[in-house]
Amino acid sequence: MAQEKTLDIFIIGGGINGCGIARDAAGRGFSVGLAEMNDLASGTSSRATKLIHGGLRYLEYYEFRLVREALMEREVLWANAPHIIHPMRFVLPYHKGGVRPAWLLRLGLFLYDHLGGHRKLPTTRTLDMRTDPAAASLKPLFTKAFEYSDCWVDDARFVALTAHDAANRGAAIHTRTKAVSARRDADAWTLVLENTDTGVQKEVRARLLVNAAGPWVDKVLQNIEGERQLHNVRLVQGSHIVVRKKFPGSRSYFFQNNDGRIIFAIPYEDNFTLIGTTDQDYHGDPAKVAITGEEIIYLCDAASEYFREPVRTEDVVWAYSGVRPLYDDGASKAQEATRDYVLKEDAPEGAAPLIHVFGGKLTTARKLAEHMLEKIERRLGRKAAPWTYAAPLPGGDFPETAFEQELEKLKAAYPFLSPAHARRLFRLYGTRAGILLGSAASHADLGEYFGADLYAAEVRYLIENEWARKAEDVLWRRTKLGLRLNASEVSVLETFMLPETVSHR
Ligand SMILES: Cc1cc2nc3c(=O)[nH]c(=O)nc-3n(C[C@H](O)[C@H](O)[C@H](O)COP(=O)(O)OP(=O)(O)OC[C@H]3O[C@@H](n4cnc5c(N)ncnc54)[C@H](O)[C@@H]3O)c2cc1C
Repeated sequence: MAQEKTLDIFIIGGGINGCGIARDAAGRGFSVGLAEMNDLASGTSSRATKLIHGGLRYLEYYEFRLVREALMEREVLWANAPHIIHPMRFVLPYHKGGVRPAWLLRLGLFLYDHLGGHRKLPTTRTLDMRTDPAAASLKPLFTKAFEYSDCWVDDARFVALTAHDAANRGAAIHTRTKAVSARRDADAWTLVLENTDTGVQKEVRARLLVNAAGPWVDKVLQNIEGERQLHNVRLVQGSHIVVRKKFPGSRSYFFQNNDGRIIFAIPYEDNFTLIGTTDQDYHGDPAKVAITGEEIIYLCDAASEYFREPVRTEDVVWAYSGVRPLYDDGASKAQEATRDYVLKEDAPEGAAPLIHVFGGKLTTARKLAEHMLEKIERRLGRKAAPWTYAAPLPGGDFPETAFEQELEKLKAAYPFLSPAHARRLFRLYGTRAGILLGSAASHADLGEYFGADLYAAEVRYLIENEWARKAEDVLWRRTKLGLRLNASEVSVLETFMLPETVSHR
């Protein structure tokens, strides 16, 4: 079995937490390896509501530390990735006798505006729903609403770009590579990695091991020699439905359900509305999680309480489900389990250290990585100061308020692109859209066409820069063109991406 030199750090898991830690550590000068058993973000990190948010509802559970940290991260992340992250206003309709009294909502939003230092995101305001256009799509029940700010993120791209930056800084990112076992010695771990396509195994050695396997965090331990079983993860399923666009405009809705929970209705991929999420304990295999019929009905009914036109189950064009790997704090209800993260160190005297990641949010992944690096540096020695606060992700090197101006530059450089195509490319790739497009002067220069503005040049860019290997990586994680391509177009793309056709690309 092939073996390489001993790395400083090896990370199991290519979700936002594993990739965030790899990026931070590599940028400080540590040698880093990461294994992801499927595609990047194929676990929970592509199945979120996709908000960079403080988490208004967490205030009800007194999660002030988490909310404050998350609120402060909104503008940091927006500035670092203004192509894939943008501000969003949320309309919270209110009516007398509703689930929560107006004073409580006002207090929550006051705290939201004041707990975390915002400079650019606008603060809360009250809407008159007798005149505001936000009322037009809703039942005529509401005289008032509150409107507040958070941000939207393309979750799967957040992971891919974080991994890309980690690799640019020297991290070795191995996708479709499963960590199948690990042996601990005094000075290092020896891990067995298996290529999940070929079954070929190889060993790597690392001085410190990070377990960022998300919903699999407990499972990974079964294959770590001498490691006792931890039972610190509470798996909580959350599902979303996608329907055709339910309302105009760029604002989202925050609806309070009669059971005390909340759901969001969010403009999605131009022509759609994303509705979610649910919260229920999950005991099955995380790889097999899927939305249930009851969840679909729950989400349709909850949204129909608000929208003038009901959301029917037959309106659902796509749905997805994910598992939150929450830290098990013994809360009685799934919705009450803490959303904060816990880094659990297992570092007995005279043995190489292991650190587990529990919980966390997309929003707090950068801070989680910084806290992880504090722990790592206590074990391996300090290399460099924290640096990710003001470091753009690939393609995000432009001022966060200059999206439209930068987009105009792209349009001017590639006038053959339709405005929608140029906008989609700039939203996904930012300033790197120019690298993807190269010297193209016409559509023909972009190579084979697969449908919905997807050309070979984009697919090739994703293979070469972002670890895309299969059509689903391109259609459901690097982009969301899976919503638009038909079955025969998908099959052409699948053939194009087969390794044996690589030479014909
Ligand atoms: C329904 C829902 C909505 C959410 N909404 C939001 C939101 O709006 N905003 C927000 O900030 N957060 C949100 N979150 C939370 C956020 O998505 C998660 O906290 C985050 O994605 C967890 O990332 P992770 O890296 O820990 O786990 P994952 O993304 O699951 O990554 C773990 C990875 O480890 C890999 N792996 C496992 N075992 C092995 C092995 N043996 N070898 C190699 N690889 C392995 C898996 O394949 C997986 O890709 C939401 C979560 C859910 C479920």
